[in-house]
Amino acid sequence: MFNRAEITFLGTGTSIGVPVIGCDCKVCNSDDPKNQRLRSSILLRTHEVALVVDTGPDFRQQCLREGIRGLDAVIFTHGHSDHVMGFDDLRRFTVLEDEQIRIFGNRETMQRLEKAYPYVFDGENRYRGYLKVDPKLIEGSFSVGDLDVTPLPVSHGKVETLGFLFSSRGERLFAYIPDAKELAGETRDLIRDLELLILDGLQPKPHWTHLSIPEAIEIAQELEVTQTWLTHFSCLVDHAALEPGLPDGIGLAWDGMKIVL
Ligand SMILES: [Zn+2]
Ligand SMILES: [Zn+2]
Ligand SMILES: [Zn+2]
Repeated sequence: MFNRAEITFLGTGTSIGVPVIGCDCKVCNSDDPKNQRLRSSILLRTHEVALVVDTGPDFRQQCLREGIRGLDAVIFTHGHSDHVMGFDDLRRFTVLEDEQIRIFGNRETMQRLEKAYPYVFDGENRYRGYLKVDPKLIEGSFSVGDLDVTPLPVSHGKVETLGFLFSSRGERLFAYIPDAKELAGETRDLIRDLELLILDGLQPKPHWTHLSIPEAIEIAQELEVTQTWLTHFSCLVDHAALEPGLPDGIGLAWDGMKIVL
């Protein structure tokens, strides 16, 4: 049981997952469960709420694996397919006619969801079994139950993308930033000296839309974060080979890993 919150890594993989279709590399053929990664997402539970950040294409499988039976909200980082394409599977959580699930996203993410799933948003399908959502546009900090959520703007290719800082009763709990190449100055100020950071660390070598592991380490150290867990890995990340070489306070997350706060 947890004191304030529990985080479960539903997935720690990059957009194509690991193993990668058609890839013959060592990691894609590895038996190590820490090298098998569904698309990146977390489940966050507190005493008042359960929510997920993002619903990628593996969302159904992740719900089954973790025994998720209800959700109070979904918070979206951005509209890339690997973060939204499990959206329709949320309908298992709005089975009753009057049930709705709150979804939080910025304008660009909401527009992408409305385009991909028009039947969820057009107000016509209110039948049992259809997904029914209560969309909430992220325009600043917001609350879900006992959690206060502060959006953290980051740069990540061409799509407007957010990370999130979660706080409870005025105390910062942790930040989750799965897709980022650079953190905006205001984002850095919000997470400086944080106790727990979950950060994009795609792979050892540089990438144009994601932080590499060395870049992520540099950010974590510069911001003096106590514990950082990297996520959103490609198959260039061999967990057992890379983890021992990381500095103190920095680790590689894996699917199913839990952090109790
Ligand atoms: Zn992604
Ligand atoms: Zn591979
Ligand atoms: Zn992305």
